[in-house]
Amino acid sequence: MKNEELVSGEQRVASGEHPCASATQTFKHSNVQAFKHSSFFTLHSSFIQVLFPSTCAACGRVLTVGEEQLCLHCLADIASLGYADFDDNPAERQLAGLPHLVSASAMLAYRKESTVQKVVHSMKFRGNSELCLMMGRQLALDLHRGGRFDDVDLLVPVPLHWLRRLSRGYNQSLLLCRGMAEVLHLPISSGNLVRHRYTHKQSQQRSALRSSNVEGAFSVRHPEKLASKHLLLVDDVLTTGATLSACADALSTIPNIKLSVATLTMAG
Ligand SMILES: [Zn+2]
Repeated sequence: MKNEELVSGEQRVASGEHPCASATQTFKHSNVQAFKHSSFFTLHSSFIQVLFPSTCAACGRVLTVGEEQLCLHCLADIASLGYADFDDNPAERQLAGLPHLVSASAMLAYRKESTVQKVVHSMKFRGNSELCLMMGRQLALDLHRGGRFDDVDLLVPVPLHWLRRLSRGYNQSLLLCRGMAEVLHLPISSGNLVRHRYTHKQSQQRSALRSSNVEGAFSVRHPEKLASKHLLLVDDVLTTGATLSACADALSTIPNIKLSVATLTMAG
C-alpha cells in the first residue's frame, strides 16, 4: 500500500482502434468482430443471467433490465434527507465544534430493519464493492445539488485499521470516495490520515464508551501535503460522531485547513 494515493476522478477509457490497418480493413474487421463479440457476449451473459440472476442488494429481488445493484422499490426507499442543501442541518448540529468545520451533511436516515441498513450491511459485510461505488456516486450528486460543497479540494476517507481492511478486503469509505470522484472529479487522499490503533467495532459498544475508544486513534503522516486545502472527510455512517471527531482532531494539526464532512447515512 502506498503511503499516499492521489486518485484523479477522470475515467480512463481504452481506445479500440487498430492503428496499422487501413480505414476499410478496420471497418470490415471491426464490424465482424463486433458482431461476433456482441452475439457471443449477449448469449454468454444471457446464459449466466439465467443461471445466476443479479439480485437486489437490499431485498434480494431479481433485478430487471436497467436496474443496477438495487431494485426500483428499494431505490424509492432510500430518498435523500436533503441535508446537503442547507446549513444547521441535523448532521451539522451533531458535528458542531469539530475544528475548522465548514459544512456537514448525511444523505440517508439509518434505522434498524430499514432498506438503508440493508444497503450499508451489503456494502460492509457482503463484499459488495460495486454497491459502494454506486452509493458514492449518489452521495456526490446529493452534495453537488445544493452547491454548499463546491469549493472542496480533496476527498479524505475515514481510514480502517489495516487488520480490519485485511479481513474485509477493502475500505468502504475509500470506495465511496472513488464513486464520488467519478462525479465530482476531485482527487482522493488515502493513506495520509491513518488509523494506527485497532478499535473494537463501534456497533457492538455502548455509546458512553465510543468516544474514549477512538480518541487518539488517528494521525496524519504528512500534514504539509494537505496544508491550506478544503478537505471533505467521508464515512458511511454517522452515529455518535466520535470517529469523525477523532479524525478531525488529527486533521486539525494541518496548517490552514478547512474541513467539511459527508456521510452516506446518519443514525436516528
Ligand atoms: Zn430491492
